[in-house]
Amino acid sequence: MEQLLRNFFLFLSKNRFFTKLAKRYGLRFGAGRFVAGETIPDAVRSIQKLNEKGMSVTIDHLGEFIDSEHEARKAADDCIEAIKAISEDNLDSQLSLKMTSMGLDISQDLVMENMRRILKAGKEYEVFITIDMEDYERCQKTIDIFKELRSEYDNVGTVLQAYLYRTAKDIEELDEYNPNLRLVKGAYKESPKVAFPEKKDVDDNFKKIIKMHLLNGNYTAVATHDDAMIEYTKKLVKEHNISNDLFEFQMLYGIRVERQEELVAEGYKMRVYVPYGNDWYGYFMRRLAERPANVAFVLKGVFGK
Ligand SMILES: Cc1cc2nc3c(=O)[nH]c(=O)nc-3n(C[C@H](O)[C@H](O)[C@H](O)COP(=O)(O)OP(=O)(O)OC[C@H]3O[C@@H](n4cnc5c(N)ncnc54)[C@H](O)[C@@H]3O)c2cc1C
Repeated sequence: MEQLLRNFFLFLSKNRFFTKLAKRYGLRFGAGRFVAGETIPDAVRSIQKLNEKGMSVTIDHLGEFIDSEHEARKAADDCIEAIKAISEDNLDSQLSLKMTSMGLDISQDLVMENMRRILKAGKEYEVFITIDMEDYERCQKTIDIFKELRSEYDNVGTVLQAYLYRTAKDIEELDEYNPNLRLVKGAYKESPKVAFPEKKDVDDNFKKIIKMHLLNGNYTAVATHDDAMIEYTKKLVKEHNISNDLFEFQMLYGIRVERQEELVAEGYKMRVYVPYGNDWYGYFMRRLAERPANVAFVLKGVFGK
């Protein structure tokens, strides 16, 4: 049943009609639990609150299904505006973005042009940029873009997903770039041809890549809500005397908030991924797919008022 619900929400997350409709009607159905608001001032307020609690942030201007050059350039402009707001308000925040929102499905030149503009602004205002990882179809393209940009800029990192068979090899191959990587389990629906279908195998591979990347001496963001992975990382860094400034934990806005606070109290660096913007629908559906129990919040959002 849970697997059915997961697939259902992942299917819904790709629905263009609902995506467009959601944009028009604003944050609904309890999405405000996972999305910080629709505008930069909304996001700034959330970041300030998290910073006051000793947490760092990475903000993400939500955007899915970008179909035109104009939309992709506008998304890049929004990112630059966010970078400036981070600097002006003196916030402890990085920026995360998706290659499809920069125009990956339109043209490679467009993505590179947008990314160079953003990374230049990031450099000027001292804001680090992480390229989120999307579905398998776009994984190689995203890695190629990262490699090219990493050889020009030092304020860029990317994400690798433990559910893909290829990822351990990617960790090995990227080592020469000394990459700052966020490691995650993976959020998209993938075929067993390319991704481990069983949770246990994903978890084992997650541990494997955390260890590989940390022991390679590269900065590692372990992005998970899973206590087993968090405890594994804590034990590993202790065993290998890896200092706290070489890794961090990351969690999503609104998920396991108490655990986030505990990790800060224990002296670990904790970064919260704060999404904002009116294109909240796909992101929200992927969060529901991860934990169908969250549907209770949706039902409250629909029927509770
Ligand atoms: C900061 C950050 C950035 C990310 N960036 C990417 C990316 O670029 N590309 C990508 O594919 N994926 C990304 N993800 C999502 C990731 O791939 C997983 O889908 C997601 O983190 C759930 O996996 P988990 O490691 O938390 O473990 P799980 O095994 O899914 O969950 C472990 C436990 O955490 C809790 N939990 C998990 N999800 C939720 C939820 N939605 N609501 C409430 N509780 C929950 C539950 O208690 C669950 O039992 C990111 C995740 C984080 C935290």
